Amino acid sequence: MSVLVVGSMALDSVETPYGKVEDALGGSATFFSAAASQFTDVNVVAVVGDDFPHEQIQFLKDRNVNFDGLIEKPGKTFRWGGKYLFDLNQRETLFTHLNVFEDFNPELPDHYKQTPYLFLANIHPELQLKVLHQMERPQLVVMDTMNFWIEGTPEPLREVLKHVDILIINDSEARELSEETNLFTGAKKIQEMGPKTLVIKKGEHGAMMIDNETYFFAPAFPLKNLQDPTGAGDSFAGGFVGYLAKTNYLCQKNLRRAIIYGSTLASFCCEKFSLNRLEEINKDDIEKRYKQFLEMMKVG
Ligand code: AMP
Repeated sequence: MSVLVVGSMALDSVETPYGKVEDALGGSATFFSAAASQFTDVNVVAVVGDDFPHEQIQFLKDRNVNFDGLIEKPGKTFRWGGKYLFDLNQRETLFTHLNVFEDFNPELPDHYKQTPYLFLANIHPELQLKVLHQMERPQLVVMDTMNFWIEGTPEPLREVLKHVDILIINDSEARELSEETNLFTGAKKIQEMGPKTLVIKKGEHGAMMIDNETYFFAPAFPLKNLQDPTGAGDSFAGGFVGYLAKTNYLCQKNLRRAIIYGSTLASFCCEKFSLNRLEEINKDDIEKRYKQFLEMMKVG
């Protein structure tokens, strides 16, 4: 099955203790596509400005990522700046320049509308809603968001949540959205907003899935050469949704496998700046690390 993603395609300026890049390829839809395309076909809905370096996404086109829904508008591409301190779990957003996103009105190409798996990547919730309304009964709707939208646009965000099956967010965002310090009480409140399954990311401490009253905990891969965690969340989502779409099987066991694939893709993402590592890896690299993951979690 194929996946449709709506999200940002960006030029990121990022600083970590290991280096610095300026106007490097980034964006939630871009990281997601790079990860998900290792498993299945991806249809992208996004907007870029006339300064966007299209040659840098050629590797995604070569992997069956379809950009018929990518609009180029006069003006500047979305830009985001972030800085990681000594503790790479802590990120400071330096700037968010929406630019061409300000008045983007996504219109889905007809052949996108029946895509069975939909991923609403981190983007303005009004845009997520516009895409959702044009889709013809997607089989599974998965969503990501961030504090920027939880604080800035709470009403449309609540509206989107009503239509979401699985929400992927990080622990601090889950607390903010639910207004609860206890993650488990908070999760219950979020489930009442719409999504029956929650995947809560905890950075280098892994991820947790809450589905009804069932809990699953997965560690993050112990990386020794971590350079830049930007995009790890979107790569996690790409591995997670990409694997589910490929297998088209939504039982608990498969959701758990999907979490490990998500964590696998997120770990590769962090090994280099921008999309550089995601561009290099192949299916064998992914399978090898997936197995290392399982080995690491084995008891007895
Ligand atoms: P992650 O590290 O997975 O949270 O994703 C980082 C990516 O999200 C960067 O490449 C940014 O370009 C993009 N991003 C950051 N803030 C926003 C925002 N407010 N809306 C859409 N995309 C964003």
